[in-house]
Amino acid sequence: RERAREILESATRRDTNRLGVEAMELLDAYGIPTPAGGVVSSPTEAEELAEDIGDDVVMKIVSPDILHKSDIGGVEVGVPPEEVRDTYEDLVVRARNYQRDAAILGVQVQEMVDLDSGTETILGMNRDPQFGPLLLFGLGGIFVEVLEDNTVRVAPVSESDARGMLDDIESAPLLRGARGRDPVDEDALVEAVQRLSQLVTDFPAIVELDINPLVATPDGVQAVDLRLTID
Ligand code: ADP
Ligand code: MG
Repeated sequence: RERAREILESATRRDTNRLGVEAMELLDAYGIPTPAGGVVSSPTEAEELAEDIGDDVVMKIVSPDILHKSDIGGVEVGVPPEEVRDTYEDLVVRARNYQRDAAILGVQVQEMVDLDSGTETILGMNRDPQFGPLLLFGLGGIFVEVLEDNTVRVAPVSESDARGMLDDIESAPLLRGARGRDPVDEDALVEAVQRLSQLVTDFPAIVELDINPLVATPDGVQAVDLRLTID
């Protein structure tokens, strides 16, 4: 909790109310699993971090001015070690092409998550002036806008509230192993919902938060992307 406070305060010092994957530690601090990785500010650092991860990586531009990174070519999945340097430069060029004066904090180098065995879900929060913090859970990734399959609860939620959210969505059978797929780790999902509930209860300054995707696999969950607004 102390660590989470520091992360939010450092954002305030940077004079921004929008945070992205550079605040991933916020989730770590609340026990929501994230892939290994970090934000670096040079091609050399990117190479070093990729070497530590020891496999192909995902690289993403980190900028408070870029909300949908993949829309501007700001996400490269499956980058082999020998392409990490060039990819760093490419991502920065694409960001500059999109917005010449975009503030660029660096590039995130992240461990690959196995999407084949996983399902992309979304876990988010919107603070409603009347009802308070509304937690949203649903199908994520590219399906978010198309299917609009989600459900909402007011935080804080109990374990059974959280479990009920999983039951609520129409794609529940997808999570539970439709079409010969292995069922995802439901307990890990329920725990993630409760941990986010705790985070937004502890920090009323967070007005909006989105983990999209939260990848659910048979072995647990991984928060792959993060966006939040503080006031
Ligand atoms: P944005 O939503 O800003 O475009 P994301 O970080 O969500 O950026 O990345 C876009 C998509 O790229 C994700 O929905 C996912 O399909 C894929 N992706 C991102 N990070 C990873 C990762 N670590 N492993 C595998 N796929 C990833
Ligand atoms: Mg995303």
